[in-house]
Amino acid sequence: MPDPNGFLRYDRRLPARRPVPVRISDWREVYPPAGEELIREQATRCMDCGIPFCHDGCPLGNRIPDWNDLVRTGNWDAAVESLHATNNFPEFTGRLCPAPCEAACVLGLGGQQPVTIKQVEVEIADAAVARDGLRPRPASVSTGRSVAVVGSGPAGLAAAQQLARAGHAVTVYERDDAIGGLLRYGIPDFKLEKQHIDKRLAQLTAEGVRFRTGVEVGVDVTAEQLRAEHDAVLLACGALQGRDTPETPGRPLRGVHQAMAHLVAANRVVAAAGDGKPAPATLPDGTPIDAAGKHVVIIGGGDTAADCLGVAHRQGAAGVHQLDLYPEPPAERDAARDPWPTWPWVLRNYPAHEEGGERVFAVAVQEFVDDGTGQVRAVRIAEVTVEKVDGRRIVTALPGSEREIPADLVLLAIGFEGTEEQPLLEQFGVTRNGRGAIDSGPDWQATDGVFVAGDMHRGASLIVWAIAEGRAAAAAIHTYLGGVGELPAPVDPARQPLAAR
Ligand SMILES: Cc1cc2nc3c(=O)[nH]c(=O)nc-3n(C[C@H](O)[C@H](O)[C@H](O)COP(=O)(O)OP(=O)(O)OC[C@H]3O[C@@H](n4cnc5c(N)ncnc54)[C@H](O)[C@@H]3O)c2cc1C
Ligand code: SF4
Repeated sequence: MPDPNGFLRYDRRLPARRPVPVRISDWREVYPPAGEELIREQATRCMDCGIPFCHDGCPLGNRIPDWNDLVRTGNWDAAVESLHATNNFPEFTGRLCPAPCEAACVLGLGGQQPVTIKQVEVEIADAAVARDGLRPRPASVSTGRSVAVVGSGPAGLAAAQQLARAGHAVTVYERDDAIGGLLRYGIPDFKLEKQHIDKRLAQLTAEGVRFRTGVEVGVDVTAEQLRAEHDAVLLACGALQGRDTPETPGRPLRGVHQAMAHLVAANRVVAAAGDGKPAPATLPDGTPIDAAGKHVVIIGGGDTAADCLGVAHRQGAAGVHQLDLYPEPPAERDAARDPWPTWPWVLRNYPAHEEGGERVFAVAVQEFVDDGTGQVRAVRIAEVTVEKVDGRRIVTALPGSEREIPADLVLLAIGFEGTEEQPLLEQFGVTRNGRGAIDSGPDWQATDGVFVAGDMHRGASLIVWAIAEGRAAAAAIHTYLGGVGELPAPVDPARQPLAAR
């Protein structure tokens, strides 16, 4: 029985982040562990409120009050079991999820601070590793059926684990040189050290999942070959088509890049250094892309932009501006606009924002300014207002508000336009919809025997949604293959986040 008064005795507390001067001198994770005493105290704040709205906030349906109480009472083995019953990779979500569950926590009603659900989750996840090193759970019986999973991000990996544990032979095809999708080379180590991915991969391998890296399906292996070799195919290729701004004057200048180009190059440097092979940050064609000593301008206000900010500081940028088209959001939930338990529009301060840089809101770039040699030297911005008219975004510049910001390196972090146009799509006979995503039927099939999940299906989203969709698509594939019983399916393809409108 949970403690009904814990939240009255304890305030919300998180472990202190590593000091800024220390953490920007390396690439290690920003958060230290909370420690047993603090995390048990924080888990005690969960009052087991009867109707746990946090379940609806979490796309995985994590049994949050159950494992909060197990942590409170020090029953770590049961907490590990309970968490893994709904989430294949809590070490990823516990570190990286924006925690819509916390926005839906009942304590958030009436002025209390929500339970530190995400922190409890990561402590349980790390306890699992410390206790039995992520013990493999291979299937006891093989079904004789085989599945190809294309793409090794969290959606593909969650599906692969579910299917392998159900006895199917699973092969994951990944065009990159390492497994993990955006977790590997998109998200920097200071948010997720790659040892966490490697430990899970060891578990999946021991459970029978085969990995083939450096294989681009549609190019190195055709759809026809994949269909011939496997009984079902899951497409989990992500939504990696970066939005660009080709109409802005000066876009072709040297020094103006997609944010992902910068992040991937930086992450590869960290990976190479860890392997004892130090290398400079370059694009695939060898062009250097490093913020050291540069004035950096990041365009965009989301996760990708914040990751570029943290990378720029660790690389030794001379200064960083982060530009956002929209006005500065309020510090607190506007209940009329986003009533509890929905996800509120509020100012989100990522750890990277504590590390320096200047955020500029309600501005748009009018021009990337040439230094006379074809290299960017500044961005010319104007203050703007943004309105929605008939669903279309109208951006209006305020006359006389233009000014220049110095820039040697400009990073475009303005979102993604769905899954990439690539040979695989035509070969499998699937087409991108208006949002650049791939639609599926209610059983996750995009076309006969070909299923789709994660960002490729939903559009650029979150790790928690990718894992939820991977689990649900695996359940549908298991049924399609005539598997015994049912696998858990936390979401259906039409499921949307909690919203008031
Ligand atoms: C910079 C950045 C930071 C982010 N930070 C967060 C965060 O903090 N928290 C959070 O919840 N979410 C975050 N996200 C979003 C999150 O990473 C994604 O929602 C999630 O990774 C999607 O998982 P996925 O498995 O659908 O696809 P992905 O992770 O994109 O993986 C798709 C994989 O498919 C492979 N692939 C594509 N085509 C082929 C082919 N033809 N053959 C073989 N392989 C192929 C790709 O190489 C890639 O490895 C971030 C995203 C970005 C870009
Ligand atoms: S996965 Fe995300 S939404 Fe679900 S419990 Fe963890 S932090 Fe909350």
